[in-house]
Amino acid sequence: AVRTRFAPSPTGYLHLGGARTALFCWAFARHHNGVFVLRIEDTDLARSTPEAVQAILDGMAWLGMQPDEGPFYQMQRMDRYREVIAQMLEAGTAYHCYSSPEDVEVMRAKARAEGRKPRYDGTWRPEPGKTLPPVPEGRKPVVRFRNPQEGATGWHDIIKGPITIDNAELDDLVIARPDGTPTYNFCVVVDDWDMGITHVIRGDDHVNNTPRQINILRALGATIPEYGHLPMILGPDGEKLSKRHGAVSIMEYDTAGYLPEAMVNYLARLGWSHGNDELFTREQLVQWFDTHSLTKSAAQWDPKKLNWVNAHYIKQADNTDLAQRVAARIQSLGGDPQAVDLAAVMGLLKDRAETLNDLAEGAMLFCGPYTCADPDLLATHVDDAARGLLADFAAKAAALAEWDTESLDALIKTLLQEHGVKMPKLGIPLRLVVTGRKQTPSIGAVLAILGRERVLERLAAA
Ligand code: GLU
Repeated sequence: AVRTRFAPSPTGYLHLGGARTALFCWAFARHHNGVFVLRIEDTDLARSTPEAVQAILDGMAWLGMQPDEGPFYQMQRMDRYREVIAQMLEAGTAYHCYSSPEDVEVMRAKARAEGRKPRYDGTWRPEPGKTLPPVPEGRKPVVRFRNPQEGATGWHDIIKGPITIDNAELDDLVIARPDGTPTYNFCVVVDDWDMGITHVIRGDDHVNNTPRQINILRALGATIPEYGHLPMILGPDGEKLSKRHGAVSIMEYDTAGYLPEAMVNYLARLGWSHGNDELFTREQLVQWFDTHSLTKSAAQWDPKKLNWVNAHYIKQADNTDLAQRVAARIQSLGGDPQAVDLAAVMGLLKDRAETLNDLAEGAMLFCGPYTCADPDLLATHVDDAARGLLADFAAKAAALAEWDTESLDALIKTLLQEHGVKMPKLGIPLRLVVTGRKQTPSIGAVLAILGRERVLERLAAA
């Protein structure tokens, strides 16, 4: 059975690239009815924080990517890594190396001077018939992996195709530091092995680690997983996506009013495609997700397209559901989400909104107190003629049998005919006096939602 893992280092927020990697691992596991494992790679104590772990969990929960197993924490698996290191020393697939960092620097410089790749020279690598130097007194050794020196290591990358590296290019990797703590590549290997990972899907910044990891897995007698390395995401300007391009933490998109389903849809298209489909549900993504359609070339972040996708999801969302999602945002703008039928407001606004924040701002027309940002507008448009019109409108509106869009539209039409004026003559002052704005969605619908009492009150106040 398929087992994938997402293995973030909790050194910052869940960023867009990480979220996309997680999404592909998740979708691949789901597609194959497999298992999606979450592993927190928190061995870098100086840079890992509990806040970052929480941010990763929050981001994944927001996007609806529930791990089937985990989170596992590498810091809780230290005993296991030490155990495997001991076994490897015992088996001779790893060895103690007493060269100091300065010694290794000298070896590297020498190799460089001779036009070779800088590397550890194998001083402490045991060979049949070789006598090792005397152990320097008081020095704690590192443990090095005994990397094969002949042949090549290769894999068929799910995304990039065949990749092969000569083993001669690979150093004898340090797998444990002098204090016994295991190094990054080693922990990854033991975890992928123990967790039975069948498919490693990760960013292509890890391509160089893969042959080293494969060689260690081989030495352990482990089954080698399939590897797929995702090309990076570029900003709109073609540079690697970074803070410069705006929000990088996935949760900032929540704050900015993006729907998680839109985010999932949009992220999935960054490096994956299904024919010409741009809009698809989470279920369709799972059903369609195959690794053949992962693209080799870098994907480009496109805020306009994200807005287009988000607008689509807003448009087709249920009004009550939107009202629930927007209520807290209205509150934080100082509005009262309960002032009116918020679902009706959503119905009125959703065709033109790109984000939930657009909806919240639009809803302030209904949920906020009456304000007119520009009193000059009132002075210009609400003249005596307009006042007469408004007074007549108020009287007739008070007497309406039904207070709904249809009746209000009909009333406005009749009034225009009776007074022999065109729509703007009534529409603009009416909007200004009742909403404080010159432009609003269809005035009949706006008045209907605001309610008779509020509308008449504001008319009277004017
Ligand atoms: N912890 C690594 C990172 O955050 C990922 C390691 C892996 O996927 O093998 O980049």
